[in-house]
Amino acid sequence: MPPLLILDPGHGGIDPGGGSNSFFTEKDKNLQISLYQFNRFQSLNIPVAITRTADTTLSSEERASRVRNSGARYCISNHINVGGGRGSEVIYSIFGSAAFPRLIQDDLEAAGMPNRRIFTRTLPDNPRKDYYFMHRETGSVETVIVEYGFADNPLDADILHRNWHQLAEAVVMAFCAYTGHPYKQPAPPNPSNGSGTGMPDGGTNIPAWKQEAIDWLFQEGLLTNEDWRHQPDTPLPLWAEAVILKRLYEKLRNPQ
Ligand SMILES: [Zn+2]
Repeated sequence: MPPLLILDPGHGGIDPGGGSNSFFTEKDKNLQISLYQFNRFQSLNIPVAITRTADTTLSSEERASRVRNSGARYCISNHINVGGGRGSEVIYSIFGSAAFPRLIQDDLEAAGMPNRRIFTRTLPDNPRKDYYFMHRETGSVETVIVEYGFADNPLDADILHRNWHQLAEAVVMAFCAYTGHPYKQPAPPNPSNGSGTGMPDGGTNIPAWKQEAIDWLFQEGLLTNEDWRHQPDTPLPLWAEAVILKRLYEKLRNPQ
């Protein structure tokens, strides 16, 4: 079955992207958001593909051809902006409609990121062609470019750094609304029991030093829900951190 949707984490490999700051590099943030969405769409039973799942270099031609040949009807290309603005931007094709971009911005705003603009752009020397190759070279796939916020704006950067998964989820929700697919919120992860969470693993290529640190938490019995073992970059909710600290405190007070 061909995918309904293909996700495109912008940039990658030798191309870090411009939307970077001291917290993150654009290519990594795009991938983090896209892998989260990939897992969420899978758990919502929406057939989904992705242009890259690791930190790999893709030429514009290769990227566009992966989208064009995916068989998908929709493409969401994820990016982080830079250049002194504030808020989200959604760019769509001159042959497309603003309906999906509007839904995306409504949900991004509800998740805490203000709207900046929705727009289309044409080549300077040809007003009948899209400016961005992701629109121009992706055939009949309905492609939107989502710029989640500005890496060089402190307010945006803080949201992108700490609440990126809520922004990612907002676009999942908007896609479901746009296509009429039933939407279900992700189950919150629970570190104190072993049941499934519906959270993404995001866990391709976990560096050994990160994995070692996490494995130690399990080995010491400080963390017990296996779901957390493979998502090293997902922040724990405060109450879960409190559970871990309490276990550590009790362990230190009553050594076996
Ligand atoms: Zn970008």
